[in-house]
Amino acid sequence: MGLFTSTEFDSLECLFVDQIQDIYDAEQRLTKALPKMAEAATDPQLKAAFSSHLTETEGQVHRLEKVFEMLGKDAKTKTCDAMKGLISEGEEMINAKGDEHVRDAALIAAAQRVEHYEIAAYGTARQLATRLGRSDIARLLQETLDEEGAADRKLTSIAEASVNPQAAHA
Ligand code: FE
Ligand code: ZN
Ligand code: FE
Ligand code: FE
Repeated sequence: MGLFTSTEFDSLECLFVDQIQDIYDAEQRLTKALPKMAEAATDPQLKAAFSSHLTETEGQVHRLEKVFEMLGKDAKTKTCDAMKGLISEGEEMINAKGDEHVRDAALIAAAQRVEHYEIAAYGTARQLATRLGRSDIARLLQETLDEEGAADRKLTSIAEASVNPQAAHA
């Protein structure tokens, strides 16, 4: 949101559409960032986790397009400044030099911040959909929320079981 413009929210539906446009932008940015994360990862499980979450993320973009359709609105993005920032922190990890295991741990650190941001965004959006009487849309958003939660837990288990123990020897 620029300095000289202001947003107006007259209804919960307005806010809901705004939130969906923000997530739609965020997910599209992630479809471009995740291949670079997968490429940068050394641990084979971590590489695979990024690749499979890329496939899920592409599905999440389509799910949001379905949400727009269900709302009778054109699929539109609103720049997600938060995701831009999280991805630029991810780029820093991608471009970092040093021990490969510590670099993997750094990629996980950046990726989990992303997943937690998405979990917050989808949790809010799902509740707004429910409040607006759109349990059909809430169900779709819950599917994505479940995927984000699973992706986050997967990263935790890779960190705990594989990456961090090796990184500790650097
Ligand atoms: Fe996502
Ligand atoms: Zn955002
Ligand atoms: Fe903070
Ligand atoms: Fe995600």
